[in-house]
Amino acid sequence: VRNIFSRANRDVIRQFARSRVLLAFDYDGTLAPIVREPTQAVMRASTRALLEDTARFYPCVVISGRAQQDALGRLKGVSTLEVFGNHGVEPWQVSDRFRQEVRRWRPVVERHVLGLPGVHIEDKLFSIAIHFRQSRQKRRARTAIRRATALLGDVRVIPGKQVINVLPQGAPHKGMALEKARARLGCDTALYVGDDETDEDVFGLDQPGQLLTIRVGRKKTSAAAYYIPSQRDIDVLLRTLLHLRSDSQTGGRTGW
Ligand SMILES: [Mg+2]
Repeated sequence: VRNIFSRANRDVIRQFARSRVLLAFDYDGTLAPIVREPTQAVMRASTRALLEDTARFYPCVVISGRAQQDALGRLKGVSTLEVFGNHGVEPWQVSDRFRQEVRRWRPVVERHVLGLPGVHIEDKLFSIAIHFRQSRQKRRARTAIRRATALLGDVRVIPGKQVINVLPQGAPHKGMALEKARARLGCDTALYVGDDETDEDVFGLDQPGQLLTIRVGRKKTSAAAYYIPSQRDIDVLLRTLLHLRSDSQTGGRTGW
């Protein structure tokens, strides 16, 4: 995994910026810093302004694990073309089968984790997230959550940053949502930035030359080809993309 900002990789971003590229971003931990209370997660003003500008030069989408409505609310005013929610299920693959399945899980999970301080269940209709960021006994919380999810039968469990996500087996993932968006928007290539386990569904697509995958934070086991050192660097990345395209459209040229 390589730092996308290193000198040797400058041409990589440049080449993508020159192609018909779709820019796609995860929200939490990528566009917005991770915070103790997930409902409080907002973009920095600088990121918001840069994203707004970037969206004028590139087709941009956001693919979040949040419910679509939730993510839309946080992106209000930014003209991204589309916001996918529930790790890629919403809005194009919402089905009653998924909804009914998720509804069935809730009481089972509640029985095992209710009463554990600092653990709470977020019901997103098409998936659930069991958060334990505020738990002081993380190991105990994790064990209880695993015990509960093991009872759900054939489900997809994706551990994240102090959260366990549970999705219906066979539900589309972020990689599929990205492919869908890219095809629909007529883009040849895509650049995706994410920070967590569910983003590995995009990182693992393995389309060299067509898909540029960037992880927030270096991690050896990630399938992402590149990384940015920290969440703050999303601003640097957006500024870079913006310069490359606004320059090429006006015929100017500058390095970054
Ligand atoms: Mg994330």
